[in-house]
Amino acid sequence: MLKGIAASSGIAIGRAYKLQQPTIVLREDKGDTQEELALFERAITKTISDIEKVKARAAVSLSEDELAIFDAHLMMANDPELKAQIEDAIKNGENADRATKSVSDNMIAMFEGMGNEYFKERAADVKDVSYRLLCNILGLTIPDLGAIDEEVIVVAEDLTPSDTAQLNKQYCLGFATQIGGRTSHSAIMARSLEIPAIVGVKGIMDEVKDGDLLILDALDGKVILGPSDDEVKEYSAKRETFLKDREALKVLVDQKTVTVDGHEVDIAGNIGTPKDVEGVLNNGGEAVGLYRTEFLYMDSENDFPSEDEQFEAYKAVLEGMKGKKVVVRTLDIGGDKRLKYFTFPEEMNPFLGYRAIRLCLDRKDIFRAQLRALLRASVYGKLAIMFPMIATINEFKEAKGVFEEEKAKLISEGVKVSDEIEVGMMVEIPSSAVLADKFAEYADFFSIGTNDLIQYSMAADRMSEKVSYLYQPLNPSLLRLIKMAIDGAHKHGKWCGMCGEMAGDTLAAPVLLGLGLDEFSMSATSILPARKMVNSLSKKEMEELANEALEKETMEEVVELVKARLA
Ligand code: PEP
Ligand code: MG
Repeated sequence: MLKGIAASSGIAIGRAYKLQQPTIVLREDKGDTQEELALFERAITKTISDIEKVKARAAVSLSEDELAIFDAHLMMANDPELKAQIEDAIKNGENADRATKSVSDNMIAMFEGMGNEYFKERAADVKDVSYRLLCNILGLTIPDLGAIDEEVIVVAEDLTPSDTAQLNKQYCLGFATQIGGRTSHSAIMARSLEIPAIVGVKGIMDEVKDGDLLILDALDGKVILGPSDDEVKEYSAKRETFLKDREALKVLVDQKTVTVDGHEVDIAGNIGTPKDVEGVLNNGGEAVGLYRTEFLYMDSENDFPSEDEQFEAYKAVLEGMKGKKVVVRTLDIGGDKRLKYFTFPEEMNPFLGYRAIRLCLDRKDIFRAQLRALLRASVYGKLAIMFPMIATINEFKEAKGVFEEEKAKLISEGVKVSDEIEVGMMVEIPSSAVLADKFAEYADFFSIGTNDLIQYSMAADRMSEKVSYLYQPLNPSLLRLIKMAIDGAHKHGKWCGMCGEMAGDTLAAPVLLGLGLDEFSMSATSILPARKMVNSLSKKEMEELANEALEKETMEEVVELVKARLA
């Protein structure tokens, strides 16, 4: 059995489909010139037909815009200039693969050297197409996720956004990846596809062979290799129960979230891309409580996404939510979130270093482009924005000041912007929780980011397995910080939400309700179980429970208290 992080709940039983990209090893020898030319010709023809096939399949699920990448690849594969240069190199004595590699490497370097965004994208296209060409010359098969036509569990080192875009839910029963955490890209995608997934499964690429029978227990983060008949039976029954329970919850989709004594809260969804909006709505989310915009930046290959690209993404989310609130978090990069095109300073503790709002206030050019895109998109729905990792009042004021400047500039340029954008902040650094009543004079709302708030209050790296026992959402010390944040907001008539993983934890929900949390934001598939839980509770009783919890000494005592009360 291998352990990982349950990233998207459910159970899958099936054969492994191991996604392994072939490694290119160039040949030392070569045939005669005519043979090499013919080999190259066949590879080009096959490459074009491969890309056409991938495009045709992807057309079912992707938009015109998203399909444009395949057109660019086709154009490159059909490019007479590229072809002529490779043929010349073959005629000059190189074999087909070495000729392809040297010509395309030159072309990539040339495009990359041109500096502008358009040419950088062309460099990425050449890379992609030449990889396909080389595989076809060398007789290597590129795995094609979209071509899977039998039920499998995908096992991979990691899955890129374009990999996940190709996954067909009908055949992909679930997936397990070697790297990634609960908030990694593949994890977020799995939740929006609503397929079971476990990420961060160390050793899975070594332990699993193509075709091995696996059980994915994504309720508990376990991958069972070569299960016995009894295990298969046991997990098939668990799977049935899980699916039945999930189906039964669907009656709650259009309902409000109200306690038995009439107290209403909002349950919202966390998203990473515009595509995730659908999952939030299908699961009855009342808002988007956290749009992690960093994925837009992490998906970008060669440079920061342009203001226009960002505008399109934000507009899509706002329109998709049809007037329901969307809380967009401004760029939260750094720590474990890196960009391919940006060099971070060397630091001993990147999580305590140059990241999120600190980086944005230092690099206002990057920050301003995002704020402008958001402001321009604001007329397409109900936008709220929040700044991540605010530690001091001055940081908040400075960030809000930049926002106001960009707003005034756009208005003077004649651009329409909404006048009702709420500007709030994440509470994820203890200093901001402790001083919440002061912050609330300036911020329109708070959203508590417990993933970071816990790591910073416990001084325990959220990426470290060794100290993961200190991830203690129900520790009374943390509950007291949360209470400070909520009370601080309420003192000034502001609302307080939570968008860290704790918000979707059904054991924590009763206490959070009692502490007065107004909005719970979580992954889409957690929304209905949370609503069911809140609908069964009394606000008044949960206030008493929360008061008792605040007086406990340990997390264990709080857990016991909550369990006893729920029973
Ligand atoms: C958090 O810290 O709780 C949070 C929601 O932000 P992230 O997980 O993206 O750091
Ligand atoms: Mg955070």
